[in-house]
Amino acid sequence: MATHPEPEVWFLTGSQAMYGEDTLRQVAEQSRQIAALLDESPHIPARVVWKPVLTTSADILQVCRDAAAQGAIGVIAWMHTFSPAKMWISGLDALQTPLLHLHTQANVLLPWDEIDMDFMNLNQAAHGDREFGYIQTRLGVARKTVAGHVTDPRVASRVGAWTRAAIGWSAMRSLRLARFGDNMRDVAVTEGDKVEAELRFGVSVNTYGVNDLVRVVDEVADAQIDDLVKEYDDTFRVAAELRPGGERHDSLRYAARQELGLRAFLDAGGFRAFTTNFEDLGGLRQLPGIAVQRLMADGYGFGGEGDWKTSVLVHTLKAMSAGAEGGTSFMEDYTYDLTPGAELILGAHMLEVCPTIAADVPNVEIHPLSIGGREDPVRLVFDAEPGPAVVLGLADMGERFRLVANEVDVVSPPQPLPRLPVARAVWRPRPDLAGSSEAWITAGAPHHTVLSRAVGVEELHDLAEMARTELVVIDADTNLRRFADELRWNQAYYRLARGF
Ligand code: MN
Repeated sequence: MATHPEPEVWFLTGSQAMYGEDTLRQVAEQSRQIAALLDESPHIPARVVWKPVLTTSADILQVCRDAAAQGAIGVIAWMHTFSPAKMWISGLDALQTPLLHLHTQANVLLPWDEIDMDFMNLNQAAHGDREFGYIQTRLGVARKTVAGHVTDPRVASRVGAWTRAAIGWSAMRSLRLARFGDNMRDVAVTEGDKVEAELRFGVSVNTYGVNDLVRVVDEVADAQIDDLVKEYDDTFRVAAELRPGGERHDSLRYAARQELGLRAFLDAGGFRAFTTNFEDLGGLRQLPGIAVQRLMADGYGFGGEGDWKTSVLVHTLKAMSAGAEGGTSFMEDYTYDLTPGAELILGAHMLEVCPTIAADVPNVEIHPLSIGGREDPVRLVFDAEPGPAVVLGLADMGERFRLVANEVDVVSPPQPLPRLPVARAVWRPRPDLAGSSEAWITAGAPHHTVLSRAVGVEELHDLAEMARTELVVIDADTNLRRFADELRWNQAYYRLARGF
């Protein structure tokens, strides 16, 4: 993603003409400084571009229209002085990008011994921003409100979380997803309304015959395969039987062919996410393993068994986490250790776990796959790096989508797993396994998820607000009775909010 230009957020300052040129000059000067502080902040992964101070509804409407048209991923607004908010109605109504209302002021300390009416005239955000809050709430504008001075790292970090969400939202809005085959037969939770998904999230989801992919895979040139096999050897610990001269080297070459073919197919169609289905492999000799794992590592979304909803989330969270520490992967709750008081979840998939979450250099191995009926697939095998993480799932509730997040702690496996031939993550969910799984299941949340060590609940909350989609969070404070009530209230709210 380094080829994309750095995303841009616009900084808008509201005021009005009646203060006179001198005050407006100071408003411009000070708002430039605030924008520059945000622009320089290491917490904010975007350029923050200052725009001239706004004093008329015509200018406000124009800048709100220009923001989306000129590619800004979001707008930050601050009312340094008082900006009568009826001026903002048309602009906010036309705004197509996410909005952050920054409730700040130029100074940290109040100059108690010097303060006069000139100072009072200039520094009015305490009530100017309340006027702006009123009109946003009156219009029902989706936004995040952040209060505090921009030199406070908590403020910059909260603006940064919103910026990451805006990057994810922008990635989602333009996402094209290719499904190779349909859903796994009879599975419920991986189904979903693709029309609603395009309307709500902007993502375009379409199916391709798997043999359309096979044609591209079969055309890959041997020289390209030579180079990729060498790259595998340089990057991973490749099992002896797969290395040049090894008795199963041909299987590794075919896995490399699949990666090159998949990449070519996706790039030619502008797809940044995809799904596979082991029930529908057409002329593919193996279920793609290492190919999918490496494409995920490069930011492509993936979902197994036709699960396009989780694939959308994988790509979106990867876009949101650009430049951040920690990886993000497709994941599935697989099996439990129910040791009383030390319960753990072992997450994995048939093959497709992303190496960005690996604790160590992955092994490249080949093992039989008990389902699918094809040749043994090549896969990367590793343990996930320990640390705090979030697990996110998306369910289609029939009339709308529901996001469910669980804060978890990835841990080192309590013992080695010498016979488990797939990559895996072991985690302790918050508040504990029973509390987490009871809440997760009560919410009807899926068994396929995204596990991310790069994105936290605040970013996800901001994204859900941009998408106007329900997000329920399971964390250390979750109480099942209150959680079940929250689901019921949300059910009523989202039905009403949608209108008739
Ligand atoms: Mn699965």
